[in-house]
Amino acid sequence: MNKNTIALFYRTFGKMLGTGIPLLISLETLKKDQKFKELTEFLDYLIRAVKLGKELHVAMAHAGFPLDQVEAVHKAVVAGELDYRSDDIASLAEAGSDFTISIPEQALEMEQEAIRLVNSWIEFAVKNNASDLHIIPTIRQIQIKFRIDGVLQQHAEIDKKYLPLLCVRIKTMADCDVVETRLPQDGRMLVRVNGDDCDIRICTVPSATGEKITLRFMPKKNVIIDLKSICLSREELSQVGALMEHSYGLLLVTGLTGSGKSTTCYSMLQEFVNRNLNVVTVEDPVEYAIEGATQIQVRPHIGLNFVSALRAVMRTDPDVIFVAEFRDTETINAALKAAQTGHLVIAVTHSPSACELLEMMTGLPDVEHEVLANVLIGVIAQSQLARKLCECKKKAAAPAKVQKKYGIKTVWNPVGCDKCLKSGYRGRIPVYEITEAGREIKEAIANKDVKLIRKIAASGMLSKAMAKVGTGETSLAEIGRILGVY
Ligand SMILES: [Zn+2]
Repeated sequence: MNKNTIALFYRTFGKMLGTGIPLLISLETLKKDQKFKELTEFLDYLIRAVKLGKELHVAMAHAGFPLDQVEAVHKAVVAGELDYRSDDIASLAEAGSDFTISIPEQALEMEQEAIRLVNSWIEFAVKNNASDLHIIPTIRQIQIKFRIDGVLQQHAEIDKKYLPLLCVRIKTMADCDVVETRLPQDGRMLVRVNGDDCDIRICTVPSATGEKITLRFMPKKNVIIDLKSICLSREELSQVGALMEHSYGLLLVTGLTGSGKSTTCYSMLQEFVNRNLNVVTVEDPVEYAIEGATQIQVRPHIGLNFVSALRAVMRTDPDVIFVAEFRDTETINAALKAAQTGHLVIAVTHSPSACELLEMMTGLPDVEHEVLANVLIGVIAQSQLARKLCECKKKAAAPAKVQKKYGIKTVWNPVGCDKCLKSGYRGRIPVYEITEAGREIKEAIANKDVKLIRKIAASGMLSKAMAKVGTGETSLAEIGRILGVY
């Protein structure tokens, strides 16, 4: 390629950009110009590359342009001064030597394929309500897996040659450093799928077999579900209703991560707001916006932690106080104090059952047990969400020990159809265990009698879960998975 033609190309290109002609139109015009006949093939490549979202300097580098020109173009684009600096770049070309342009044909086709793959996976994830997409490089392949209803499912295996292209595509979409492949990176992208905005967090980690990418699909709209619609049975709903009638005291909501305890809390808080009560929350982070409530985000780095926020909240005449974290002694005591002084405090903890929670709290030094015993209203415990059987489920006789122990004669087993992606399950349901703090429990807590707590608050989660097996909402295998036994 003649260096003077290249220099003329830079100058003309810069001038066009300088008069406000958009990049792609400038390139299209140059392609038709007889002066640049030699460059037609390259310009055609450049136009397609830009349309695919490739950066100008990257496309030039791939086509074999000298590195100094590539760098100069990159710097000019970053500074937004490609029009001004094109004369300098032209001089650079003139000072250099002639070179050969070679168009990497296949690269563009592969890039296009990588873009198509990423788009199709995002669409698939949104359509099937997947929470995560994993792109996992193995020695020879790339495995594509989706987490749907809490379970990881294999989706496809593709040729490993696509890995760098997939990484570049996803990093570009998420505003990450495309060049950096040795360090983990986080990013975020907003994409539109079938008319809906979709918020995706991405995370890359270098592994021995290449960069692994995880895409986490954030819940679309944080809609607070009505208390009547969070899968409580009629009996459970009235139990929760009774707990909510208290005008002061401590109500604990507990469960492991992914048990849906936040949904339960927000549904209750919304109900309190609807009853015209002053609801104030202390959270980290604020997960859902509750219309009509005052929500405080803690900021420990400026001194606003759970304890100081709680103290401030007390001065704002609250009826209901929500504490999203209930781990350290100081926060617990501050919450107990609030509950003791005529407020209804709802606090979230991470124990898997009421029994384990009460045992843990009784074991904490410096927590005022007598106050806890006095103010505790009850505990709402939730297991991890159980997958709901798809309508393709099949009836079967219950195993003898299940019949004997739980009085369940028939169970349903997963089958698998197109609707449930052959998994046999669609959607998830919570399993609740609601414990009212009666006189016995209160006494056991006050006396730190762990044995007695274990006896009174023994977990009823299993029988609650078995009830859902009996109604065919979920399967024995699924209960085995989430609770470990049946
Ligand atoms: Zn099905």
